[in-house]
Amino acid sequence: MHFELKTLQLIEPFRIAHGTSATRQVLRATNGTLVTEAPFVPYYGEDPAATLALLNQTVLPLNLPRTATLALNLLRHDIVGHQTSRPLSSYAESKLGAPVHPAPPGCRSFSIPEDLGAFAEKVAAIAAQFPVLKLKLGSGDLGLDIATVSVARMAAPDAQLLLDVNGGWDIAEAPLMVEKVSEYSPALIEQPIHHRHGVEVWEELRTQLPGNAPPIFADESIQNVGDVEALADFIDGINIKLLKCGSLDAAVAMISAAQKQNLQILLGCMIETSLGTTAAAHLAPWADWIDLDGHFYVANDDYTGITYDAKGRLIMPERPGIGAIPR
Ligand SMILES: [Mg+2]
Repeated sequence: MHFELKTLQLIEPFRIAHGTSATRQVLRATNGTLVTEAPFVPYYGEDPAATLALLNQTVLPLNLPRTATLALNLLRHDIVGHQTSRPLSSYAESKLGAPVHPAPPGCRSFSIPEDLGAFAEKVAAIAAQFPVLKLKLGSGDLGLDIATVSVARMAAPDAQLLLDVNGGWDIAEAPLMVEKVSEYSPALIEQPIHHRHGVEVWEELRTQLPGNAPPIFADESIQNVGDVEALADFIDGINIKLLKCGSLDAAVAMISAAQKQNLQILLGCMIETSLGTTAAAHLAPWADWIDLDGHFYVANDDYTGITYDAKGRLIMPERPGIGAIPR
């Protein structure tokens, strides 16, 4: 087995409530011809060089950083997939049963805009292909957040809008902001309040929202199955990502927990190459929404895997394991 780091050059700096990035790093794990990837994200604060040094020790430590755990877990599934000539999705199917639906509509994300005119043009251009648009809010400027939604709605009247606040509103302003952005008929609002808040604050938010508020999703506040159960009464859905769960197995367990609580599922990803987003896409048939566009932000994506057709529909590669191949 071999490990290495790859630096991803972003096509343009990506700004969300947690900060702005111009490059990202991913970990690659290789076994023979099989390669898997797991991303490093500023949010988890794991150090790429330190992680690589840990993996290059003669004996692997028991507790590895989540990026390393995910890369190794995906490698194990990729090996089994190639041995059995089945895609990664067949593991999910063995645990979750037949797909809930073939694949949710494709989505593209927009980072917090700097220039609303340029943003409107970009939204209109992308909405011509993709039926779902995810807008990053939580800029720190409530006026800009509302303007972002309003401009996107005018530029894409028929799009489904997913609003991701990344915890950028405080509990005093969140109920009013939910009400304000609801005028633009969003399909859902993700992580309106900060993840440092516990269950009580989510409960408080829920009691302050009208019954007809858009579905409220939790992302950063849901890190494991216990969080799903604790928050289930106060939210309508959760965002599931491979890195957050730490393994394909844990992501499948989280989907199962969400299904038991009648929560909707948004399947997300990080900024990663097509190798990473294609691995995650194997869970798409069990998700209500997908946000699998991390590779579109990468200028040096060296893999090819999932694609989207002219109507933004997800197309999976027909190959065993993860199914992404070098370009
Ligand atoms: Mg999110």
